[in-house]
Amino acid sequence: MTAPRTPSATPHGLRRDAVIVGGGHNGLIAAAYLAQAGRDVEVLERDAIPGGAVSTVERFPGHRIDRGSSAHLMIRHSPVLDDLDLAAHGLRYIDCDPWAFVPATDSAPAIVFRTDLDATCASIERSCGARDAAAYREFVATWTPRAAAVMDAFYQPATMGRFGRSFLGLGSTASSARTGVIGRRGGEMLNLTDELMAPGDALLDRWFDSEHLKAGLAWFGAQSGPPMSAPGTAPMIGFAALMHRIPPGRAVGGSGALTDALVSRIGADGGQISCGDPAVSITRCGDHWRVETASGDRRCTPTVISACHVLTTLDLLAAGGFDPATIERWRRDIVVGTGIGMAVRLGTTALPEYQGLPDDLPAHGVHSALGLLVTDRSHLVRAHSAAAVGELPPRPAVVAMSFSAIDPGLAPECRHAINLWAQWHPYRLAAGDWADAGAAAAEAVCAEVDRHAPGFAESIDHRFVQTPADLEEELGMIGGNIMHVEMSIDQMFMWRPTPDLAGHRVPGADGLFLAGASTHPGGGVTGASGYIAAHAVLRRRRLFG
Ligand SMILES: Cc1cc2nc3c(=O)[nH]c(=O)nc-3n(C[C@H](O)[C@H](O)[C@H](O)COP(=O)(O)OP(=O)(O)OC[C@H]3O[C@@H](n4cnc5c(N)ncnc54)[C@H](O)[C@@H]3O)c2cc1C
Repeated sequence: MTAPRTPSATPHGLRRDAVIVGGGHNGLIAAAYLAQAGRDVEVLERDAIPGGAVSTVERFPGHRIDRGSSAHLMIRHSPVLDDLDLAAHGLRYIDCDPWAFVPATDSAPAIVFRTDLDATCASIERSCGARDAAAYREFVATWTPRAAAVMDAFYQPATMGRFGRSFLGLGSTASSARTGVIGRRGGEMLNLTDELMAPGDALLDRWFDSEHLKAGLAWFGAQSGPPMSAPGTAPMIGFAALMHRIPPGRAVGGSGALTDALVSRIGADGGQISCGDPAVSITRCGDHWRVETASGDRRCTPTVISACHVLTTLDLLAAGGFDPATIERWRRDIVVGTGIGMAVRLGTTALPEYQGLPDDLPAHGVHSALGLLVTDRSHLVRAHSAAAVGELPPRPAVVAMSFSAIDPGLAPECRHAINLWAQWHPYRLAAGDWADAGAAAAEAVCAEVDRHAPGFAESIDHRFVQTPADLEEELGMIGGNIMHVEMSIDQMFMWRPTPDLAGHRVPGADGLFLAGASTHPGGGVTGASGYIAAHAVLRRRRLFG
């Protein structure tokens, strides 16, 4: 345990080795790596509590409810948890197994995705037939190395060279009718890149026959926001293959348990986290940066990692005198999008009783899983199309999670904590506003659960609604986009959030680094941008002292 540091005072404020603006999980992970390396680091967080969209609070008496994320699908595929030894700081995951299910239709039982591929294929065979079960087995074999390569690329700075290296050698996962060694290899690489760039829907149509299965996988892939008709969305479905290696994890105590462990880790290494006082400007002062907060406090530091929304970072730079014309150009280049969705948090007297489940489930049934409550892709298309013109979805697409069944500490005895995430909901409504529309939209979300688990609506004791407007207001997610900026292929990798601002740096702002969902590799609980930015800072210090 390192004692908290006492920073020295300078004319520009308290001196720190590094200041992190934004205490979301990416900012905290960046801080934890720097503190672990012996740097005197302080995190400045706007909100009263740290963690941003990775935080859990008591919304209803005795119920621990997530404010943002609930299931951690990606971070368990990264080096972060082990590097920072977060288990020693209290972080414990329960494997979500089953990790997903698609509800029953009138003619077929539910499809249940287990970590075990054989069990999953057996379920697909019962619901969709032997051909799709065999196709799914082959799909997982083909996409596991591809999805692993994508994850590899996620935890490295996004450069053309590294990107290419991540996918080199994957040609053999594609086939080609071309002849000759060179012709065949070239053909395989072309087919591989074609599949990686394909829309998710095209990928599903290539592999499977059953609309039931395609709908479930399409809804899984659409969690990042873009519809599965968009180019470059195929890998978001291919990521499902990796769930048979490490399934989604549920942090015991709620999503915010990750943040609690990071706070403990940073404190143990002498770092500081200051909440409830937002940064209001970032100003260049000679060879240092001055970060000022709303209370008038100042920090003087050679290194800033700005881990809040990139548009907020641009505001802070503008307030610090950075060239306004350049900022305006970057601002126009960044597409936040029209909003993704809304959340409904419930306290209930019972778990949803889904119809048509197989009888070979573990004791907790499907309550460890992401309930992918969509059985036909037309449901997704209608919801997305409505949102594109500012309307509420005729029927929202819902992911239902009932993790109090596997972590009873989340709710009082005989009670449950249910998280519902629903898409697509526009940030700007064509008619009216969210203050009026929120309650009816939340009813529609609950009705989707009730459709597959009749009687569920009557079990609801408490309800907390987060519309896109609420997500912006509470969590600072501009435009209600939970991924900060659109996860379309033109804003991923070397292009996120714009080519100028990719690389986790700001041109003309030496010593200022970017992290957070606005930067490569984007939103979701990955910790990747915090990891990359911290390593860029440490590498720079090694090179330049
Ligand atoms: C309702 C919801 C459900 C989700 N579900 C999932 C899920 O199940 N699985 C998943 O993987 N992902 C999910 N996500 C997405 C995921 O949680 C986010 O993409 C991710 O947590 C973003 O983390 P971050 O650290 O990059 O940014 P954020 O969490 O946005 O953190 C940025 C921080 O910066 C702070 N800040 C802003 N302005 C200032 C300022 N001026 N000064 C100081 N601090 C400032 C904010 O208060 C915030 O704490 C969900 C998100 C939401 C909202």
